[in-house]
Amino acid sequence: MPPVLTTVHRLTADNRRVFSETVPIAPTSPVKRARLEHMERQKAAVDLSNADDPERYEMGLEDVEEDFGFETATSRLTQPADKAMHHWAENQRDVYLQALLWREGRGDADQDVCSKCKKVDSAIYRCRTCHDVSLLCGLCCVETHRANPLHHIEQWTGVYFKKTSLRDLGLRIQFSHPLGQKCSLPRPGRPDFVVLADNGFHDVAVDFCGCVANEPHYIQLLKAGWYPSTSDAPRTCATFACLDTFHYQTLHGKTTAYDYYATLESLTDGTGIKPPQRYSSFLRMARQYRHLLLLKRGGRGHDQYGVMGTAPGELAIRCPACPRPGVNLPEGWEQAPPEDRQVRFP
Ligand SMILES: [Zn+2]
Ligand SMILES: [Zn+2]
Ligand SMILES: [Zn+2]
Repeated sequence: MPPVLTTVHRLTADNRRVFSETVPIAPTSPVKRARLEHMERQKAAVDLSNADDPERYEMGLEDVEEDFGFETATSRLTQPADKAMHHWAENQRDVYLQALLWREGRGDADQDVCSKCKKVDSAIYRCRTCHDVSLLCGLCCVETHRANPLHHIEQWTGVYFKKTSLRDLGLRIQFSHPLGQKCSLPRPGRPDFVVLADNGFHDVAVDFCGCVANEPHYIQLLKAGWYPSTSDAPRTCATFACLDTFHYQTLHGKTTAYDYYATLESLTDGTGIKPPQRYSSFLRMARQYRHLLLLKRGGRGHDQYGVMGTAPGELAIRCPACPRPGVNLPEGWEQAPPEDRQVRFP
């Protein structure tokens, strides 16, 4: 693991000149180590890419600056700034559009044969989330989605595809049992159970385990990666992936909870038909989840006094720029003259 290089400004022995010295500091945090290892792996790949990359986005600004003049202005007008964009606009827009329309129809499935069980006159369902675009019968669609119960399913009406759900096809999601195994004493969840996933809302039918595990329902949900809105007979959940996505969206894109929730509604139905109202539940789940992540990363789950034993400020993150001996200060920093310890701006 190579050390991190940092620059320190020092005074010469006669105090007349300032000079810069590069000081290696060993990376201390595992996150920093992982980033540095990743950068090393990327270095070779970056050297190989560059001008030959056909996906590179070009603006042609360098050409304008280099050859400013009448002739260049003329050639600039005739030269596309982004060649790939120009080629697409001139030659491929119709083909792309046809491909989008192809996906709206039955594709290559000209017969009603299920692509999995080969049953005739039954292939009317397809999944918009799966990579597989073939048409299936209802039973095969349910079977292929036991491990992926939060996918968007469509049904062929004879003219177009309309939205349906795996719950309407008969899928029941079993908790606390291996995939495909049914509980001997299933406890059905509430009939209006709704899950917020990162691809929209889903009406689902759930069965909790009442036999071996027989844990509280909210624990069974949490262990499966679904965050319940309440501990008592929940009817709303958000997947951890959904809450993680919101967390990143709000940190990177400054997206509000309201806008993220509206995005999930639009992903579910773009025509303006609203799914069941669960906004206040989403707000509560997002706040609780964020708080729990703080506690988890602060190591409170491994402390004998747990959450209530957290001292004030214990979950705060250290400022990475503040000087800390042994982390981002060179050896012998305390022996440096006082004026050398101040930050200098050359
Ligand atoms: Zn089938
Ligand atoms: Zn699918
Ligand atoms: Zn069971």
